[in-house]
Amino acid sequence: MSQVHSQPRTRLVMGNWKMHGSLAENAALLADLAAGQGRGGATELAVTVPFPYLAQVREALADTPLSWGAQDVSVHERGAYTGEVSAAMLADFGCTWVLCGHSERRALHGESSALVAAKAAAALAAGLTPVVCVGETLSDRDAGDAECVIGDQLEPVLALGAEALSRLVIAYEPVWAIGTGRTASPEQAQAIHALIRAALGKSGAANTRVLYGGSVKATNAAALFAQPDIDGALVGGASLVAEEFLNIAAAVA
Ligand code: PEP
Repeated sequence: MSQVHSQPRTRLVMGNWKMHGSLAENAALLADLAAGQGRGGATELAVTVPFPYLAQVREALADTPLSWGAQDVSVHERGAYTGEVSAAMLADFGCTWVLCGHSERRALHGESSALVAAKAAAALAAGLTPVVCVGETLSDRDAGDAECVIGDQLEPVLALGAEALSRLVIAYEPVWAIGTGRTASPEQAQAIHALIRAALGKSGAANTRVLYGGSVKATNAAALFAQPDIDGALVGGASLVAEEFLNIAAAVA
């Protein structure tokens, strides 16, 4: 796979708390993250949290270099969409980021790739940075279809155009590695990252950051981050333990 040459990209380590936390647990975690964030050097650190905790996170991280965001966004701007949260509302809470198309939302809520791209567009319109998640299942991989599945997931996102692509982040998260303790090998991850980078390059956005996600821990982070097209990590379980999350950031730095 040919490598697209591009400028250096600032590394990004982002936590995905999923549906975990409480006011008390978050307070301790956020205090530890704020106190230890320097360990990540120039690496950007961020957390994506459940909607009810955005106010708490904004208050706890306001005077730190850590940024925050949400795990989903409505495709609609406003209106009769009970239970939905708009991109403008997230911006109101100081969010920088929003996850779009996490595999759990694709699988459990039937989100299509077209909907995911539309959510990314809604986020961009509100000044947020979408983190668009793509990744194949184990059966896709076993059938030799990983590249094809990821190509299909990317297609509507690439169609947003170079300017939009330059303002978003892609996260490659093989579904078989999420929450399973099974990580893609650095070579397996790099092969898909190179494919994503090539597709971005063809669309005029070779510098868009591409994160890896799937059972990233302090012990496997350095080898993953040594790969040329891995620009950081989207971290689930390990982001709930400050020490582990900070050690992952330190491995990137
Ligand atoms: C995730 O939820 O995005 C994720 C990568 O989870 P974990 O790190 O727990 O595999």
